[in-house]
Amino acid sequence: MSKPRLFVFSAPSGAGKTTIVRDILKSFPEFKFSVSATTRKKRANEIDGVDYYFISEEEFKRKIDNNEFVEWEKFYDHYYGTLKKTIDENLANGFTTIFEVDVKGALNIKKVYPDAVLIFIAPPSIDELKERLKKRNTETDEELKKRIDRAEMELSYKNNFDYVVENINLDEAKEKVKKIIEKEIS
Ligand code: 5GP
Repeated sequence: MSKPRLFVFSAPSGAGKTTIVRDILKSFPEFKFSVSATTRKKRANEIDGVDYYFISEEEFKRKIDNNEFVEWEKFYDHYYGTLKKTIDENLANGFTTIFEVDVKGALNIKKVYPDAVLIFIAPPSIDELKERLKKRNTETDEELKKRIDRAEMELSYKNNFDYVVENINLDEAKEKVKKIIEKEIS
C-alpha cells in the first residue's frame, strides 16, 4: 500500500473549487474527503456529516477548548475547522485525504503536516468570480460583498501554495489537478 497523502485545496469562493474537488473524489474513489465542522447554516443541497458537520457555536467552542482541531478559522461570522480525529483516522487507515479549506487553514495544515500538498484554484479574474457568485445565488447581497472582499485577500496568498491551477476552463482545470495528484502519488 502506498503512503497516504494529504491534498489541500483552497480558492476564493466561486472559483470552482467544490466542483473540482467532487470530480477528484469521483476519479479517485479510494480517497477520503475531510469533513470539516462549521457553525454556518446548512444550504439546501448539503448533507450533515457529508459536506460538513453542522454544529452549534457552543459545541464548536467546546471542541476548540478540547484541542480537537488541527486548525480553525472564523469568517463570515461563522466558525470552520478541520478535526484532528479525521486526519489521524484516515492516515492510520491508509487513506489519502482531500481537504477544502480557506488559505490560512491550508497553510496551518502544512505546518502540522509538512508533506501535505497545497493546491490553489484561481479564478480567471475578480469580475468573473463576482458573476459566478451572483449566479450561484446562495448568499444575500451583504454576504456576497464579504465573500468578494475575502476573495481578494485569498488571492494574495496563492504564491504560498505548491501548485496554482487557473480555472478558466473547468475541464482543463480538472485535468490539470488530476495530473498533479497522479504525479504526487506515483
Ligand atoms: P462555505 O461556507 O462556502 O462552504 O465555505 C466558506 C469557506 O470556508 C471556504 O473558503 C471553505 O474552503 C472554507 N472552509 C471550509 N471548511 C474549512 C475548515 O475546516 N477550515 C478552514 N480554515 N476553512 C474551511
